[in-house]
Amino acid sequence: MRSPNFFAAAALDRVTHLRADAEWLRAQLEHPETVFLPVWRTKNLVIEGDEPRAVRFRAAEAQPLREAAGEVVLLGLFDGVTHFALDLSHFDEPAALPGIAAQGSFIELRNVGPLIDRDEGGALAYARAMTHWHATHQFCGSCGAPTESREGGHIRVCTNVECARHHFPRTDPAVIMLVEKGDRVLLGRKAEWAPGRYSTLAGFVEPGESLEDAVRREVMEETGVVVSDVDYHSSQPWPFPASLMLGFFCKAETELIQRNDKELEDARWFTRQELLEGQGGLGIAPRPISIARRLIDDWLNEGGAT
Ligand SMILES: [Zn+2]
Repeated sequence: MRSPNFFAAAALDRVTHLRADAEWLRAQLEHPETVFLPVWRTKNLVIEGDEPRAVRFRAAEAQPLREAAGEVVLLGLFDGVTHFALDLSHFDEPAALPGIAAQGSFIELRNVGPLIDRDEGGALAYARAMTHWHATHQFCGSCGAPTESREGGHIRVCTNVECARHHFPRTDPAVIMLVEKGDRVLLGRKAEWAPGRYSTLAGFVEPGESLEDAVRREVMEETGVVVSDVDYHSSQPWPFPASLMLGFFCKAETELIQRNDKELEDARWFTRQELLEGQGGLGIAPRPISIARRLIDDWLNEGGAT
């Protein structure tokens, strides 16, 4: 079994059976050991440095913030300690809130991802994903009435009693694939990326589409290459803002590159040697936190799990 990718909160017990237990939730919110992880507009509160750490407010410290906070979302238990996400997004100046500036700063999780403890990174990613979902689902998609958070923040219910529709947190599946042909792999680059950087192809899964078909379609659209033998590798939560990356290896049946949808600025075949040189000096490969890099590294290691 492969080790989890970055941002997978592998050590988290999500306690789904307790989310509807209002009494348990109330007790956890007041429990002195309970941890609150502040989120502000998709940024997480972190103490920066060589080994960045999440700022963890205990119940007493979080109290003044909780009174003013937006959503408070139950994440689950880490080592038996209950963790909540605390959404402070409606403040324009979060640094002015009690205790915030003294503790750390709100940062983009992707920038510290490789340095932060894996489980902590997973918890912050989850907190960010849930608060983003709440922020973008304030109104019912069926009737337009406001929605309300329930069950520790894992459902939003339409307040129009005629409708009362339940809305559940969503995650958007995307496929990401390493296309190989003999000793070469097919990589592409987008115009907005850093100069010289190439990565594996990727795209969103469409409704009514299998993952394998999404892999074949995306590779065809972006490069005109026909692929077969689509094999699952691993997955990665990617809450930037709401994706789940599903990684695959596949084999190219053709070589000619034609960028059909112009989503990429360029697509090329790279030999193993070119990639190894690139990772050493030219920075071709994507960032180490991404499943794209994991797919490339595993291919360079001749398919062995890392
Ligand atoms: Zn409704």
